[in-house]
Amino acid sequence: MATAGKVIKCKAAVAWEAGKPLSIEEVEVAPPQAMEVRVKILFTSLCHTDVYFWEAKGQTPVFPRIFGHEAGGIIESVGEGVTDVAPGDHVLPVFTGECKECAHCRSAESNMCDLLRINTDRGVMIGDGKSRFSINGKPIYHFVGTSTFSEYTVMHVGCVAKINPEAPLDKVCVLSCGISTGLGASINVAKPPKGSTVAIFGLGAVGLAAAEGARIAGASRIIGVDLNPNRFEEARKFGCTEFLNPKDHKKPVQEVLAEMTNGGVDRSVECTGNISAMIQAFECVHDGWGVAVLVGVPHKDAEFKTHPMNFLNERTLKGTFFGNFKPRTDLPNVVELYMKKELEVEKFITHSVPFAEINKAFDLMAKGEGIRCIIRMES
Ligand code: NAD
Ligand code: ZN
Repeated sequence: MATAGKVIKCKAAVAWEAGKPLSIEEVEVAPPQAMEVRVKILFTSLCHTDVYFWEAKGQTPVFPRIFGHEAGGIIESVGEGVTDVAPGDHVLPVFTGECKECAHCRSAESNMCDLLRINTDRGVMIGDGKSRFSINGKPIYHFVGTSTFSEYTVMHVGCVAKINPEAPLDKVCVLSCGISTGLGASINVAKPPKGSTVAIFGLGAVGLAAAEGARIAGASRIIGVDLNPNRFEEARKFGCTEFLNPKDHKKPVQEVLAEMTNGGVDRSVECTGNISAMIQAFECVHDGWGVAVLVGVPHKDAEFKTHPMNFLNERTLKGTFFGNFKPRTDLPNVVELYMKKELEVEKFITHSVPFAEINKAFDLMAKGEGIRCIIRMES
């Protein structure tokens, strides 16, 4: 391509300060270096993880920064040593990578790549410790190795999954984080047995995808727990059979759930990021066999407190990033589930805005309205 090897000037939504609306700026995007790719982003969406680090309350502030990690795009050019993907390939960026060589990548059980696992504090490329974005020569920092709120971005090749070019990027972009995370948390980690009862804490995109995963796995009761009652109507479409709003009860949620289920749920999946909900999600599983899975990203100083007897009584607590999917190996297959109509993604997409109106996506999430809002880079 004519732009290969050159700096590209394009629009990006820059977060100059914590919690301040993003501002669309012209940025310079340097060419990809060794083992990096430069990607033209076509569609991106907003996940709560972007919001936590943009608010930077209880998270390390790194500014100015370009957020965004749930997206779909096309490879514009590749750096030295890249052989897996080529210009024109359709890709989904992923916030946690897969080098395919380390002990984690070689283990069938882990997706916590030694080289490219999620690092929310790093704002630079791992190759040379520099940013590829700048304005008037001043660096603008990256976010989780993806920074998709930009028309062009540079990523490590291990953080992009090459997908079927027939897959519509305006739909499958939501598989690049939230939906795969929730789905995998249920199917790969919680693994609810057929006929079991599952509690899902937090009914945003991640939690609704976890409910969908529990339904696909064959759970017969799926209890959605959320403080926002507006979530409940939508949640039915994702397999939730019952709802519980902690605000409607004087007793702790764990006790309410134990009463509803004759001693506790078989599985629970926490998708809120709230530490109290994490503890509730663990303490509400049945003794003897219950398994709880944490997915929400906690406050930097959060501490998980529970009585050790809860473990002795044979409850299991697990956590996961990206639903234990290996991004490059497994994500193309999740896209194929959509192509075979075994997984519906349209129902997760409730809003769409042009890039110039990206702050509307933040407003919608703050109000708890809708599920995912697609941000169209080309309006
Ligand atoms: P979201 O804001 O759309 O949904 C979160 C939901 O949780 C909201 O409906 C909110 O009302 C509810 N909630 C908040 N506190 C609660 C509480 N105490 N009890 C019950 N419900 C409560 O967010 P999302 O985009 O679906 O993301 C959910 C979480 O998953 C976030 O913490 C996000 O950072 C995290 N996440 C983790 C991974 C991972 O790989 N582990 C990947 C993506 C997102
Ligand atoms: Zn995310």
